[in-house]
Amino acid sequence: MTFTSHHESAFDELAELLDGTVIRPGQATWDEARAAWNLAIDQQPAAVVTPNHVEDIGHILKAAHATGLDVSVQPRGHGANGDLAGCILLRPTAFDEVTIHVEERYARVGAGVLWGTFLPSLEGTGLIALAGTNPDVSVAGYLLSGGHSWFSRWKGLAAHSIRAVELVDASGELRRVTAESDPELLWALRGGGGLFGVVTTLEIDLFEAPDLFGGKIIFPGVTAEAVFELADAVIRTAPDELSLLLGLINMPDAPFVPEPMRGQTFASVDVVFVGSAAAGAALLAPLVNGIPPVANMTRPFTIGQLGEVAAEPTDPSGAIDWSATLTDASGSVLADVAAGFRAATPAGLTLLTLRPLGGAIARSDRDATAVVGHLDAQYTVFAAAIIMDPTAALDPDALFEPLDEAVAGRTVQLTVPTFLTHGQGLADAYGEADLARLAEIKRRVDPHDVIRSNRGLPA
Ligand SMILES: Cc1cc2nc3c(=O)[nH]c(=O)nc-3n(C[C@H](O)[C@H](O)[C@H](O)COP(=O)(O)OP(=O)(O)OC[C@H]3O[C@@H](n4cnc5c(N)ncnc54)[C@H](O)[C@@H]3O)c2cc1C
Repeated sequence: MTFTSHHESAFDELAELLDGTVIRPGQATWDEARAAWNLAIDQQPAAVVTPNHVEDIGHILKAAHATGLDVSVQPRGHGANGDLAGCILLRPTAFDEVTIHVEERYARVGAGVLWGTFLPSLEGTGLIALAGTNPDVSVAGYLLSGGHSWFSRWKGLAAHSIRAVELVDASGELRRVTAESDPELLWALRGGGGLFGVVTTLEIDLFEAPDLFGGKIIFPGVTAEAVFELADAVIRTAPDELSLLLGLINMPDAPFVPEPMRGQTFASVDVVFVGSAAAGAALLAPLVNGIPPVANMTRPFTIGQLGEVAAEPTDPSGAIDWSATLTDASGSVLADVAAGFRAATPAGLTLLTLRPLGGAIARSDRDATAVVGHLDAQYTVFAAAIIMDPTAALDPDALFEPLDEAVAGRTVQLTVPTFLTHGQGLADAYGEADLARLAEIKRRVDPHDVIRSNRGLPA
């Protein structure tokens, strides 16, 4: 799309109307304002807007209609998919409400709130929310796209915990969407992503969990096959309150890495258990007694410390990634995945994670209330190459073919949309009937297709 004086004057007018800000190409803060979290993604919207309140969102939508541009909401950009041409990028950072209703076991959370801000506000309540591994991800961006939580084996995929959604729809109308007001739209918002309006606030379920135990257990990289096998045996018989994240990482040979770890490979098992330290340690005994860990950081912890368990990076970096949903983890497949990781190491592969599914994730009792429904598979597998040197080209075939071969014939093209990788859309997460139902709802609430999501529907 070429920009005309019509666009320029529409943005000038918008800047006058907004309490919030409008940033255009050429301004000093442009590159910072438009950046995705994955620095390898070069997104080029027409403008970046930061509304301060619902009226501002109404003005932004009017400007979109007047200029023929789309609106795309991106609180943090972890799920950025690249294509923002012809788009106004909306940052909902000013929507920062956090209200905890302890007795009624729910919270109101603004669309700009990150998990790392929200979870500490639950300290002392004995309640938890269905958060994932990374505290830098927004509550809204994660929940709207499904959300695989540390507690999903226990309580199901996180989007089910959305009780109500307040959004400004494409016509500029503020709607409160509940199971009573519009069950069909709520079904779509529970996992269909940001296609249906500009969400301002979510109301979400909280759950009682007085005791939490867990942390990271690190093993020598050469033991990865045995670690994965033992961890798999543990999780297959464990109660749903136990959640594991299996990992393999090549630590960069760089000064920011502590000397003894530089250039080394480590396997890891990150643990979250809803229950006592004694019961959690007993579940892990076959693993830690079977293979001596380099470090075992499991301990009782509080909900505000959840982000420390996986200790994932929160600073932006460049990466290319790959994922698969494994339906059958029997036999040597987990060992084959570890071997695939090693085979791709010379090409620059940095990390691999395997998330065991099962428990409430595999149960279909909530299918009627959320598009994210259930996922009857055994693991999600994710791999990424962190771009350490932007001048050195990485070869995706060399990076990911060994992993494709390791999982061949054992995958399904269904996933939680939060785990979709660059270039994928909702057709890579849901079946045809769900896609058709989402498209019908989209036509109803956004007939002119103004709201664009990172994970679109098939054309
Ligand atoms: C290191 C890391 C760890 C992760 N761990 C997990 C995990 O444990 N479990 C898991 O499920 N996922 C995980 N993810 C994936 C992450 O949850 C998704 O990428 C999520 O969408 C990113 O949230 P964000 O706030 O950065 O969203 P953004 O990328 O900013 O937005 C994603 C999309 O959400 C929609 N959206 C967001 N806010 C609004 C709004 N207010 N109104 C309308 N639409 C909106 C839009 O369609 C937008 O395109 C992880 C990602 C990373 C990088």
